[in-house]
Amino acid sequence: MFSFVDAKIGDFNLKFMKSSVFSGELLHCFTTRVGGDTPNPLESFPISAKDFPEYKEYEVKNQKVAVEFLGGKYEKFIMPNQQHTDKIAVIKSPDDIAQLDVEPFDGVVTNLKGYTVCMVFADCVPVLLFDEKKKILACVHAGWKGTAKNIVQKAVKIMEEKFSCCKNDIKAVIGAAICGNCFEVNSDVASQLAMTLENNCDNIFIEHNGKFHVDLKALNQRQLNEIGVETVDVCEYCTSCQNNIFYSYRADDRCTGRHGMLAMIKE
Ligand SMILES: [Zn+2]
Repeated sequence: MFSFVDAKIGDFNLKFMKSSVFSGELLHCFTTRVGGDTPNPLESFPISAKDFPEYKEYEVKNQKVAVEFLGGKYEKFIMPNQQHTDKIAVIKSPDDIAQLDVEPFDGVVTNLKGYTVCMVFADCVPVLLFDEKKKILACVHAGWKGTAKNIVQKAVKIMEEKFSCCKNDIKAVIGAAICGNCFEVNSDVASQLAMTLENNCDNIFIEHNGKFHVDLKALNQRQLNEIGVETVDVCEYCTSCQNNIFYSYRADDRCTGRHGMLAMIKE
């Protein structure tokens, strides 16, 4: 179950979202665009001002506020350079963080306590995985390209192989992302996406006038189910339908900010 949390921080009246799935060992939140002071077209609380270097100052201020809300420290803030790849950074020690400055990553798996991992989105699917027994965190950015490469299953395999996690102990949360009504693709993309599933694709793909509508959140959920992660809490909100609350690459015609998914294993 997802719910909104209102927070007054300084002059900001912000709105965050949280899932009820995780125990207190993992702190997490999803930011929204509501309640900040960043001007248009990034109005009003972007966690990334990618493509708008003139708003860098706002980006840093907003990141600090979001980390404060989470209960973390900005000196321990980890944010990969996302490029729609299926590359996942394995971070076992603070020295491993430097790799994020060298190449792009669209996923992070870590056992570091007290470090806030942040990833940013505008329609793409945010996926958070946590093994409560081993205390291993994974954050994934699954746009259609990452979803076509089955990046969530790759993250689960890394949790198993590098951190000895057990699938039964992994819980997943899928944040707000574009819905099936709003996300239309051609048959080539639809077939690439459909090939990621071993079993049926019911209710994920709808054909309409030669185009396909794809529910990317449901597809990521099904990918997780197929690899053996059963508990998946999926946010009902669509970033494009609810464009007043979330950033949407499609609804904002590519000129937009990014909301964030932040998570930290408690110290
Ligand atoms: Zn929608």
